[in-house]
Amino acid sequence: MTPDLMEQGAQRLQKIAPVLPQGQTESGGREAGFGRVHTPGEVDITHGRILYLEDVNVSFDGFKAINNLSLDIAPGELRCIIGPNGAGKTTMMDIITGKTRPDSGTVFFGSTINLLDHREADIAQLGIGRKFQKPTVFEHLTVFENLELALKTNKGVAASMLFRLDSTQSDRLAEVLHTIHLAGSVTRQAGLLSHGQKQWLEIGMLLMQDPKLLLLDEPVAGMTDDETARTAELFLTLKGKHSLMVVEHDMGFIRTISDIVTVLCDGSVLAQGTLDQVQADERVIEVYLGR
Ligand code: ADP
Ligand code: MG
Repeated sequence: MTPDLMEQGAQRLQKIAPVLPQGQTESGGREAGFGRVHTPGEVDITHGRILYLEDVNVSFDGFKAINNLSLDIAPGELRCIIGPNGAGKTTMMDIITGKTRPDSGTVFFGSTINLLDHREADIAQLGIGRKFQKPTVFEHLTVFENLELALKTNKGVAASMLFRLDSTQSDRLAEVLHTIHLAGSVTRQAGLLSHGQKQWLEIGMLLMQDPKLLLLDEPVAGMTDDETARTAELFLTLKGKHSLMVVEHDMGFIRTISDIVTVLCDGSVLAQGTLDQVQADERVIEVYLGR
């Protein structure tokens, strides 16, 4: 791997994966080692919420994309978010991850971390991993190298070149490979994977950092039926260990994985309940399912 690529990788990982700043331990001290498996600092979930949004508003040039949005997610929950195009689903994720700053409202990670006090890179480090719609793996690197790269923090080129996995990290990597159904493709170049496999690999890269909360935006778009079914299986194994917020249009997929479904429309919550409950809701039928 070239130094350029390393630098590029480190920069990208700062954006996509929760990592600790250089030499920083969870207790706030310094340590010499790098590249270890990072367990994000504890998040206070004593109030039964991993994520809490209240009365959040965002306007773009006078257009209200998010309108008094309130929503909370329990620890270990897999929450599905549905809603028509333009409902504000991606913008909501932009707000949670610090990409977009709301005009007003409250956004908390656990009971004590005010996300509006943090920048995008810090929010990733706090333990919030985000998967964008398009897969963005390193195509010319192998599956193994992509996952390995996800462990490397922003250490500069020289340190990254000397990086070696320790046994805990190797175990973690093996576990993630198995979870994402890529144990048989370790040495395969990522560019040669199918679209679905690339998506799994990127989820694997997020998992290497052991995020508390994972935000996934249309993860099965473009997947084959078989890949979609395997992704549902994957998400069900993640539930409980991580909290997940999954935005999807594929109702079959939602039916397989969902407990509570939140319907977003015009920037706020229109309905919430089981998929059957929201699908029977007249307002939901009108704005979305009946189109
Ligand atoms: P969804 O993901 O539910 O389809 P989005 O969150 O992408 O919806 O968009 C919600 C609305 O906000 C849309 O009308 C979109 O055009 C608008 N919007 C989103 N981001 C921006 C932006 N950066 N500038 C202007 N308008 C935006
Ligand atoms: Mg979107």
